[in-house]
Amino acid sequence: MDIFCKIASGEVGKDFIYEDEELMVFEDIHPEKPVHLLIVPKKHVVDFIDVEDHSLFQKIMKVAQKMVKEKGLVGKGYRLKVNGGGHQLVDHLHFHLIGPMEKAK
Ligand code: 5GP
Repeated sequence: MDIFCKIASGEVGKDFIYEDEELMVFEDIHPEKPVHLLIVPKKHVVDFIDVEDHSLFQKIMKVAQKMVKEKGLVGKGYRLKVNGGGHQLVDHLHFHLIGPMEKAK
């Protein structure tokens, strides 16, 4: 079982920044910036390309917007990213929300 499944099941304890029936949000253990959140479906999905129910993306984006606001990142520069196709460290779909980021040149 991957680490995010263990967090979803409660086997590994984690403080959630946000949680609902489908999603959980928690801080990345190795933050790249002062804000580095992982937005993760509780259900096991390996890769971005595997998602067939696109309403999941709508829910993730809605929560991402909420986190941008709640973490004070509006107008501060942020990045929302997903690694896939084998580039990911953890084989369980997750979006990173990272900021503040400097203005792109
Ligand atoms: P990926 O490269 O798969 O997109 O990124 C996985 C992310 O999960 C990494 O940024 C890594 O620091 C984070 N991570 C890995 N294991 C844990 C963990 O046990 N707890 C938390 N909070 N983050 C983790």
